[in-house]
Amino acid sequence: MRVLVLHYDVVNISLIYNLFFKELFFSISSAIFIIAILYLFIKKEIMRVNAKASKAMSYAFTDALTGLNNRHYLNDFLKKFTALNKYDSDFAVVFIDIDRFKLVNDTLGHLTGDCILKGLALSLQSLIRPGDTLCRYGGEEFVIIFSDIFKQDALSKVEQIRDCIEKRSFDCKEQKITISAGISFGSRDNDINEVMEHSDKALYMAKDAGRNCIKVYNPD
Ligand code: GH3
Ligand code: MG
Ligand code: MG
Repeated sequence: MRVLVLHYDVVNISLIYNLFFKELFFSISSAIFIIAILYLFIKKEIMRVNAKASKAMSYAFTDALTGLNNRHYLNDFLKKFTALNKYDSDFAVVFIDIDRFKLVNDTLGHLTGDCILKGLALSLQSLIRPGDTLCRYGGEEFVIIFSDIFKQDALSKVEQIRDCIEKRSFDCKEQKITISAGISFGSRDNDINEVMEHSDKALYMAKDAGRNCIKVYNPD
């Protein structure tokens, strides 16, 4: 009789153990499953938010008409340039402005004006080196920063750009334009914002000199 009761107890305990481990296994599996689903969901959400943020960032730094970098991008670039003191070698800043662009708008309309701005942006992009920085500064003004360049090479490059723009006619009503440019040079000891101001001054000099030409900022 005692053996029977003992046997009965052992069977009961093993049943309880079985049930307990089954429950435990089920609970752990369920928890792992829920955690995995949560992890995938959160990961997807983070990726979605990141993608949205980088899209917003790229919109904020891009000019809507030409697709070039805009002035916000340039300001950010200038801050980083100063903070990192990135270039040991000489750099050049070029301000470019379309000549008598108001007249183009007034005679051919704003849509043709827009078309010319887009065409010019593409031309400039194709004429600079991959490491150079080009942006639409505003209106019909563009800025190029040539990093790591000799003065003479920068001058030749800008003259090549001016010449190329003068010779080409844009798809937009076969219109031709000319540009004026101001150029200024800097090295690692110079404040790039000052060099920017000098290029802007040189651009005014080019306008004063009759347009369709390049002027170099001369501190004297
Ligand atoms: P200057 O040779 O002295 O630079 O003469 P300008 O006529 O080019 O200069 P002004 O500053 O008098 O006129 C600039 C014109 O650029 C006026 C403005 O309507 C035009 N403009 C600025 N942004 C845009 C744009 O996004 N699209 C078009 N179509 N025109 C623009
Ligand atoms: Mg202008
Ligand atoms: Mg102009």
